[in-house]
Amino acid sequence: MSSTGSNGSIRIGYYICHCGHNIAGTIDVAAVAEVIKKIPSVVVCRDYKYMCSDPGQELLQEDIKEHNLNRIVVASCSPLLHENTFRLATEKGGLNPYYFHMVNIRENASWVHEDKEQATQKAIDLSRAAIQRVTFHKALEKRQVPINPDVLIVGGGIAGIHAALTLANGGKKVYLVERDPTIGGHMAQFDKTFPTLDCAACILTPKMSDVNRHPNITLWTYSEVVEFSGFVGSFKAKIKRKPRYINEDLCVGCLDCIDACVYKEAKYKDEFNVGLSNRKPIYIPFPQATPQVVVVDPENCIQVKRGKCKQTCVEVCDREAFDFDQQEKYEEIEIGTTILATGFQTFNPEKTPYYGYGTYKNVYTSLEVERLVNAAGPTGGEVILRDGKKPKTVGIIHCVGSRDAKTNNWCSRVCCMYSLKLAHLIKEHSDAEIYNFYIDMRTPGKGYEEFYDKLLQEGVHFVRGRVAEVTDWAAEKEEEDKLIIRVEDTLIGAVRRIPVDMVVLSVGIVPRENAQEMRRLFNISCATDGFFLERHPKLAPVDTASEGIFIAGACQGPKDIPDSVAQAGAAAAQALALIDKGFMELEPVTASIFEEECSGCKSCIPLCPYSAISFIEEKLKAEINEALCKGCGTCVAACPSGSIIQNLFDDEEIFSEIDGLLVQY
Ligand code: SF4
Ligand code: SF4
Ligand code: SF4
Repeated sequence: MSSTGSNGSIRIGYYICHCGHNIAGTIDVAAVAEVIKKIPSVVVCRDYKYMCSDPGQELLQEDIKEHNLNRIVVASCSPLLHENTFRLATEKGGLNPYYFHMVNIRENASWVHEDKEQATQKAIDLSRAAIQRVTFHKALEKRQVPINPDVLIVGGGIAGIHAALTLANGGKKVYLVERDPTIGGHMAQFDKTFPTLDCAACILTPKMSDVNRHPNITLWTYSEVVEFSGFVGSFKAKIKRKPRYINEDLCVGCLDCIDACVYKEAKYKDEFNVGLSNRKPIYIPFPQATPQVVVVDPENCIQVKRGKCKQTCVEVCDREAFDFDQQEKYEEIEIGTTILATGFQTFNPEKTPYYGYGTYKNVYTSLEVERLVNAAGPTGGEVILRDGKKPKTVGIIHCVGSRDAKTNNWCSRVCCMYSLKLAHLIKEHSDAEIYNFYIDMRTPGKGYEEFYDKLLQEGVHFVRGRVAEVTDWAAEKEEEDKLIIRVEDTLIGAVRRIPVDMVVLSVGIVPRENAQEMRRLFNISCATDGFFLERHPKLAPVDTASEGIFIAGACQGPKDIPDSVAQAGAAAAQALALIDKGFMELEPVTASIFEEECSGCKSCIPLCPYSAISFIEEKLKAEINEALCKGCGTCVAACPSGSIIQNLFDDEEIFSEIDGLLVQY
């Protein structure tokens, strides 16, 4: 290993930063500089208060020119914060930015040591190692990849709709893929939205129509992304379009065929009304469904199942829209960016059997009650129980499946507010006495606390405590036919039994059951709670670890409608920023394979977390796609024949760094 001093052409500028007291409080920066300046290849050696300040950067640039420096080392804070700052300063000084190296003597020395002498020695060792390794740095060039301006959005709930319209209004071509027969998502099922109590459909359906008629949006409902590949700027997606058995271009949604269906009775569970009503084998999910096209349920339509129906539906369709020969078909598209807005599902209350869902007929989920209070719902907006009676007393249990180590630890963020909304609506529709059972009341949005005050004034009761159980164990005659809620009221310090006619379970928000499948398909990550993981919770909340793939709405974690819309706008803005720039600069710190050395053992392929390595059958060699490689180094370490190298981490650079740590001068 050659020593720094043996290479006469290497001229290093070394800068140690005080970072106020952050570094200089524990490290004797002048003493470090005294040692480092004795290294023969170090031409300039300075300690400076704040290297990241403008004067600090200018100092570095002037030194490069004045002293003809060709390598730069800055000993300061974390590269995460300022590596880019100093690379740019190096470039402005006229050097290739990869001739710069940063040593973290703050997080790795001053912040983790109390002994000044030891911290100073460690800063010297780390600096010497950096000086050794920077000698072997090579000039690297960033590559640019063009960005295809078209965008794929997966999920047609409010987040997907908002992102699609934002991009389409900005002149971009959008493919919006929704797995259900209509867009609208959960919001379409809600009656009113909190805290303003405006009608959910009234604010949502105009946006749904805008999506449907927007010239820049291709809407594929009843469709799923089944294959996804490529890299930022150049993704490919394959979309499966399930057969509706109806020609979408011909159907005008007159619904005559539904009336004419040979099934006179609707007997199949209506998914939109969460099973509170039935539908026929041909149906439209709800009156304002978008597109306004019926769908044939292949599980139950006699013609699809057995090919032997009288097809009375077909006879009445003067648009000749039926096509029972329809098959699954596939669309293949090329896009530059993707937004995942795949939403959430509600917690399954059967996992908390002590609340009686599925055991007692008058225990409902909040989503069921959303449909009950809706004028377009199964009871026309009347709050009528399954036994046909109107409830006189209703208990709403918050946090079902949330904030509980037995189910999910997280707060679902919306249940307090929607429970208040449902309390208001049930009272409005039935004049029942309402009890809300809560652990803590969480109302941190605009106008939310005021809405809570309004409910208090309306005479809704609030009992603070986690409900222990719901039973039908009547203690006296008046309690027969009632459900008994047992709870410890923590405000009065007593166990209470409250008989009610109806129980509403405010079920929490959980990741969709296919979240892991989606994660694999799009090569992103899920957090431990199962929701899609953002690149940084504060600084990159809509980015993912995969460049060019963004997330929006409740697929990233529980959130209400305003937050979902805000996040969708942010994801659209991120996509627009990439598209309008027209290209993406790729970091050159990537790995590559020496083809001659590769034995074709394929060990590296499954190890790459970014699926950047493929196998070229004709050559029997592995190959790295540099646009996908993030330079994590896993494959480099794993290759048994040592045939993978990584820019900025080649053997010379790494061994010389180790050498610098160990060899004293
Ligand atoms: Fe009307 Fe024909 Fe469409 Fe049925 S398939 S809704 S009859 S246009
Ligand atoms: Fe080739 Fe190494 Fe990958 Fe094996 S691990 S396929 S030898 S590059
Ligand atoms: Fe994949 Fe990491 Fe190797 Fe790049 S360095 S190809 S990201 S394993």
